[in-house]
Amino acid sequence: MRVKIRKGDTVEVISGRLEDKGKRGEVINVLLEDRRLVVQGVNIRGRIQFEGPIDISNVMLVCPKCGEASRVGVQRDEDGARRVCKNCQALID
Ligand SMILES: [Zn+2]
Repeated sequence: MRVKIRKGDTVEVISGRLEDKGKRGEVINVLLEDRRLVVQGVNIRGRIQFEGPIDISNVMLVCPKCGEASRVGVQRDEDGARRVCKNCQALID
């Protein structure tokens, strides 16, 4: 499965730690090798608070057009692959 989430996206946490469920935040780092990402304000750890990485499968992309946590499809055109919101069909980028 290809990773369809990028740095700078807004995502919603759909599973994982109870206290993080439903939170939305900006992706501040994507750790491709271990399929994890760091989301602003999610999975806060330590006395000096910082965001720990969470599993990519625990989040859904929040579509910038419709504002819904949405499944993402891929549409191919002459420029390559574009991401598409499966909720409102908007191109995401
Ligand atoms: Zn949408």
